[in-house]
Amino acid sequence: MTEKCLCEPNEIIIFSCAGSSNVGQIANQAAIKLAQSGVGRYFCLAGIGGHVSGMIESTKAGKMLIAIDGCPVACAKKTLEHAGFQIQEHVQTSDLLGIDKEHQFNVDPADVGTVSDHVAALVSKRKG
Ligand code: SF4
Repeated sequence: MTEKCLCEPNEIIIFSCAGSSNVGQIANQAAIKLAQSGVGRYFCLAGIGGHVSGMIESTKAGKMLIAIDGCPVACAKKTLEHAGFQIQEHVQTSDLLGIDKEHQFNVDPADVGTVSDHVAALVSKRKG
């Protein structure tokens, strides 16, 4: 059963792998869209990987952590877990969209919308 979260948008923290591929950039653009639409805050994954103290502390204050990865390698999820964080939601754009990872950056805005809508629905479900 999904645990309910009484969280405000500023307590919902989104990370994206922002990988150098079509699916990684879909993840990045979906995270931007979610932040711009007020679903949550988009934080820098590199700050977690670099153990930047301020970013670690800001992330600890979050109540719902969401990782959006481009492919099953799951760099965002693994980076967060390596730093000791527990993720509430994890999405892989390649799985969700049924597309292959390619080292090109032709991103279909409809794919970005599908991912951001999916994440927004997951957040709504958790908030009850
Ligand atoms: S999850 Fe996949 S697309 Fe994203 S950074 Fe890692 S290898 Fe690249």
